[in-house]
Amino acid sequence: MKSFNKDPTAPIEPKENNEKTASENDQPVNSQATGKVVYLTFDDGPTSVTKNILDTLSQFNAKATFFMLEPAMRDFPDVVNKIIEDGHAVGMHGVTHDKNQFYDSEQSALEEMITAQETLQEITGVHSNLIRTPYGSIPYLTETYREVLDSNGFHLWDWNVDSSDWSLSDDQYVDSVVEQIEYLSSAGVTSIILMHDQAETANHLSILLTYLSENGFQTKKIDENTKPYNFNCYDRCHSLNP
Ligand SMILES: [Zn+2]
Repeated sequence: MKSFNKDPTAPIEPKENNEKTASENDQPVNSQATGKVVYLTFDDGPTSVTKNILDTLSQFNAKATFFMLEPAMRDFPDVVNKIIEDGHAVGMHGVTHDKNQFYDSEQSALEEMITAQETLQEITGVHSNLIRTPYGSIPYLTETYREVLDSNGFHLWDWNVDSSDWSLSDDQYVDSVVEQIEYLSSAGVTSIILMHDQAETANHLSILLTYLSENGFQTKKIDENTKPYNFNCYDRCHSLNP
C-alpha cells in the first residue's frame, strides 16, 4: 500500500485495525452537514479488477456504490454478489452504454434500466432503484425522460466530483479528486465522486482512501432514502446541501 503523506511531519496513525472506536460511532450525527462525508461511486463494472477495488475498500473499511452495466453483471455474477456481501450499494448504469441507443427515446432509456434492474435481482436477489445514466444526465436526459424514470421508481444520481480517471494517467486522478473534495468540503458540500471500475483506478485507490482516512472523511454508500443529487435541479431534485 502506498502511503499518502503530503506533510512528512504529520502524525501517522496505525492503519492495521480499521475498527472504529465506540466514540467515533457515537458521533456520526451530522458530519454530512460539514462536508466530511464522501460518496465513492464506480461506474461501468463489474470487471476483472472489481475484486481489487473491493479488497482495497475493505482494507480501509470504506463503503462505495457501484453503478453497473447489465452485460457486465452477466459476465461477472460472482463479483456482483461479492459487492453486496461486502456491504456496498448497487445500482444500474443501463445495458448498451451507447448514447444513441440509450437516449433514443424515453422508452429505450427506461427499458435499459429495467433490464439491468431485473438482471441484478436475478443474480443477487437485491432490488435496487438507484441509477446513473451513461455520461450523466446532462445534456441527454431531458425533462420527459426524467419523468418516465421517476414515475417508474428510479432514483437518478449524478456526481459533483469528476475524477477524470479515464483520461488521467497513474495516480493523477487522486490529486484531482483531493483538490475537488477540499474545495467542496470547505463550502460544506458533500462530495459524490465519479470513478470507473478499471485497472488504473483500482491500482491507485489506496492513495485516495489513505487521504480520506487521514483527513477525517467518512465514506458512505448511497441508499434508497438518500435524496438524489442531480446536475440540474428541476422541481423534484435536490442537492445534498442546498
Ligand atoms: Zn459509464
